[in-house]
Amino acid sequence: MARGNFDAILFDAGGVLLLPDPTVLGPLLAYHGGDAGLDAHLRAHYAGMAAKSAVGVGERFWEEYNLAYVRAVGVPEHEVTLAAEVLSAHRNAWTWRWAIPSSLVALRGLHDAGVPLGVVSNASGQIAEVLAREVCQEGDGPHTPMRVIIDSHVVGVAKPDPTIFDFALPHFAEFERSRIAYVGDSVTMDIGGARAAGLHPILVDPYDDHVGADFDRITSLLDLL
Ligand SMILES: [Mg+2]
Repeated sequence: MARGNFDAILFDAGGVLLLPDPTVLGPLLAYHGGDAGLDAHLRAHYAGMAAKSAVGVGERFWEEYNLAYVRAVGVPEHEVTLAAEVLSAHRNAWTWRWAIPSSLVALRGLHDAGVPLGVVSNASGQIAEVLAREVCQEGDGPHTPMRVIIDSHVVGVAKPDPTIFDFALPHFAEFERSRIAYVGDSVTMDIGGARAAGLHPILVDPYDDHVGADFDRITSLLDLL
């Protein structure tokens, strides 16, 4: 992934900067026979996103994600339906809060290199507050500065609708759209939405779930440095 291909970067939040908290979901699913370990839960998120993308569903539909997630952490088949229901009840706006360590390092490095950054997230009105705790904030502050943080709930439009990017792009007006990367973890919402907006889409695909895809893929945000 050559950085020469773009001048600025917009990020999705879920699966890119934050994950559903594995320190909560681990014990929750261990009750149903799942592996509570961090590695199992990191893998499970991207397995869930790949399953969600495979059926092409949008933001409101997480059934395939939940089933793939609990299977990926090793929940036995006779517990899968129940465990997926339990996951569905707990993977909510408040548990999307675990900052991905490599993303924190990469954001700081990109900012230090002078790359203009922003966030465009399908969220519930909470994302700026969660990110401000340890990831980033609009403008100067204790964490990585962003030019703008867009929350779909606040602006009233969600990916894959490309018009959500119209709320962020005025902050990057000096760049051509095709020179602005959008980094996400959903083929349907992020790659699809960014493409429709004329941006340069990049998928976070740490486990090579999308070999042969016709868009750029990275294993972590460190690949952008
Ligand atoms: Mg996401």
